[in-house]
Amino acid sequence: MASRQGASKGLGLASGAYGRGARMVTHASRASSTPGCREVAVVGAGAAGLVAARELRRENLAVTVFERGSEVGGTWVYTANCGSTASSSSAYHIHSSLYESLRVNLPKEIMGYSDFPFLENSGSRYCGHAEVKDYLRSFVQHFDLESMLEMNTLVEEAEPAEGGKWRLRVRPRGDQEGHDRVFDAVVVCNGHFESPKFPQGVGRENYSGSQLHSCDYKTSDDDRFVGKRVLVVGMGPSGDDLCREVAEVASKVYWSGRGFDRFDEERLRSVRSSLRGNIILRGNVASVSGKVVTFEKGSEDPVEVDTILWCTGYHYTVPFLKGSGAVQTERGRIEPLYEHLFHPKFGPKLSFVGLGFRILPFPFFEIQTRWVARCLSGRCSLPTEQEMAAEAEAFYGGIEGEGARVDMTHCMDGVQWDYLDRVARNSGGAPKLEDWKIGLYEINRVKKARHPKEYRDLTLPEEVPLMEKGAARAQSFLAQLQEL
Ligand SMILES: Cc1cc2nc3c(=O)[nH]c(=O)nc-3n(C[C@H](O)[C@H](O)[C@H](O)COP(=O)(O)OP(=O)(O)OC[C@H]3O[C@@H](n4cnc5c(N)ncnc54)[C@H](O)[C@@H]3O)c2cc1C
Repeated sequence: MASRQGASKGLGLASGAYGRGARMVTHASRASSTPGCREVAVVGAGAAGLVAARELRRENLAVTVFERGSEVGGTWVYTANCGSTASSSSAYHIHSSLYESLRVNLPKEIMGYSDFPFLENSGSRYCGHAEVKDYLRSFVQHFDLESMLEMNTLVEEAEPAEGGKWRLRVRPRGDQEGHDRVFDAVVVCNGHFESPKFPQGVGRENYSGSQLHSCDYKTSDDDRFVGKRVLVVGMGPSGDDLCREVAEVASKVYWSGRGFDRFDEERLRSVRSSLRGNIILRGNVASVSGKVVTFEKGSEDPVEVDTILWCTGYHYTVPFLKGSGAVQTERGRIEPLYEHLFHPKFGPKLSFVGLGFRILPFPFFEIQTRWVARCLSGRCSLPTEQEMAAEAEAFYGGIEGEGARVDMTHCMDGVQWDYLDRVARNSGGAPKLEDWKIGLYEINRVKKARHPKEYRDLTLPEEVPLMEKGAARAQSFLAQLQEL
């Protein structure tokens, strides 16, 4: 069995732009933690789990982060074979749904945590995935998180134990069997871009060509795309990026999205004008048979394609909680949860970080984990179980009452800033997300919609004063580093 220290060795932490070995460990001077709450387990060492570890330790809690992979960074640990159906796949495989050419879709000035800005590296405001991985490794080094990490260790089960504690069954790589560890609380940071979701009822199993999910797409230099007729399904960020990338090598790309059915002519014209001539827009897929795909909008002719690339999202899964019956995930959300974060019954002792989508991820995780940490340390408290359950019920009832899609429960479009304000307020006066970051995020959103192809290489005049705030933040951080 790997020892705790041994397990964290060999992370190959970066120093790079952040200075070799620079450390700036800040502990909050808290006198005591909530009686009975001391040992906290974090599942996952991605962007959510790492900042959770830091925030928990700032509250003087004893933290153990279990990570099944051998590297920190989760999604950002890209390899050519990192998809969910990769041949090297094992329980210890880090699944990453990134692709080789991926550049971030948010400017670096706002992507990082509050007190650890991205520094100039590649020179681009929208860097490649490797730079994000370096950033996260540097974060571990800078805040001295290594000793909390138990790498190559899979959490197989988690369930409530006597005395309000949690029993985790963990299995280090190479061990035949897992062993039990007991904690006062569990913070679930296992990510939600791993388990591919496909449209139901279209007859995907009857398709006779090649098909793959975007989680397994790595490059377009692939026989399934080069010179082929390809259908890309889905209008999210992956569908948008990949239909453009595939079109550079394919003979023809049909891009299908349920949203296209609802666009008026002007909007369709504007989308088309940003696309290569060999990309043809289609509505929602109705059925698939042989190599022929039909679409819901009757007026659209069926098409024959060689390959289907499903960019149709992911399921939420928490396999290690299955036996506990604590949460349900079948309906495309994790329930029941109060404020997308806390389990009403277990309160701060069972939390789920980063379930939101269409968010500013790293700051979102940071603000959430501050709330978790401060509740666990006793600095702030949650409503009663009944109040949290009632609020969760009312929230779910609202979604269903409006006829909205249940699997959009954790979608934060339009509500993210209010949510984060509320979380910060509930965290005993924790800092709010700065207005200039919100401003840049919103400009980026519009810029991306108007210039979907080239937004990453475009700086709008209204971004400049906000970017200067980001540059000033990076400068003062660098000056701090130099003083150390
Ligand atoms: C294609 C794509 C593009 C994206 N682009 C951007 C972008 O430009 N900017 C941005 O900010 N965000 C982007 N994101 C979102 C990105 O996922 C988040 O930024 C963030 O990395 C998610 O972090 P996480 O910690 O929640 O999850 P993950 O990064 O998935 O980390 C979860 C970790 O938990 C571990 N784990 C899971 N189960 C267990 C277990 N049972 N035992 C032990 N360990 C376990 C995993 O191995 C993994 O390391 C993108 C996502 C995708 C898929």
